[in-house]
Amino acid sequence: MARRKLVVGNWKMNGMRAQLPEVEAIGRIAATNPSVEVGICVPATLIEPASRVSGAAFIGGQDCHMKASGAHTGNLCAGMIKEAGASWVIVGHSERRQDQGETSADIAAKATAAHGDELKVILCVGESLDVRDAGNAEEVVSAQLLASLPAGAAADWLAIAYEPIWAIGTGRIPTIEAVDSMHKALRSALASRIGAEADAMRILYGGSVSAANAAELFAVPDVDGGLVGGASLKAESFGPIIEAAAV
Ligand code: PEP
Repeated sequence: MARRKLVVGNWKMNGMRAQLPEVEAIGRIAATNPSVEVGICVPATLIEPASRVSGAAFIGGQDCHMKASGAHTGNLCAGMIKEAGASWVIVGHSERRQDQGETSADIAAKATAAHGDELKVILCVGESLDVRDAGNAEEVVSAQLLASLPAGAAADWLAIAYEPIWAIGTGRIPTIEAVDSMHKALRSALASRIGAEADAMRILYGGSVSAANAAELFAVPDVDGGLVGGASLKAESFGPIIEAAAV
C-alpha cells in the first residue's frame, strides 16, 4: 500500500517570534515537495502566528489535555490548540511520558480528545536503552503502542512515531535492520487491533534524523516519514530531510 510520507518537526521548548521566518521558509520547501506532507509542531505560544505564515506546511501542537475544559492550571485542551491554528498534535512524546509521568492510558485519552476536536494525532512510542539492551524492545514497544492506541484509531487521523528514547537528541540511531524489524513489528501489532486499517497507517521514525541518514531511513518499506527534533529548527537542516522523503 502506498502511504504518503509525513515529515514533521518537533520544536519542543524552542522558538520565539523571531524564528517565524524559519517557519515561512519551511512552508516554501513544503510547497516545492507536494508528494510529502510536512508539518511543524511548535510551542503553543507560536501556533497562531506560525499558522499565519506556514503556507504548505501544517502547524501542530506538542500535547493536549484529555479533558475539554476545567480546573487544570497550565494545561491546554485540544479545542484551544485547534482554535489557535493547529491541525495536528503530538501525544505521548517520551519527554512527556518521563517528565510529566504520562501513562499509556492518559495518552489514549488525549488522542481521543484530540480526534474529538478534529485534530490529527501523532502518537509516540519508544524504548529505553535498558529495554533495547535487554533484547525485548519489539515486545515492549508493541505493548506500549497497543496500550496507548485510542478506540477507533484510523489512518486518516492517526500516525504513529517510533522514537527510541536513547536515539533522541543523541546523534545515535538504531541499525537500519533494527528500524525495519521494529516498524514491521509495530504494523503487525496494529493489525492485531485494527485489522486491514494498519496497512494504511503511517509509522514515522524519530530520533536523531538528519540530512545524512534520512534517505536511508525513509527507504525502509515500513518507515512512512519522520518526526524530527533538532534538525527541524532551521529550514537549512530540515529542507534536505523533507527532500529525502519526496518521490
Ligand atoms: C524528538 O524529540 O521528537 C526527536 C526526534 O528529536 P531529535 O530529532 O532531536 O533526536
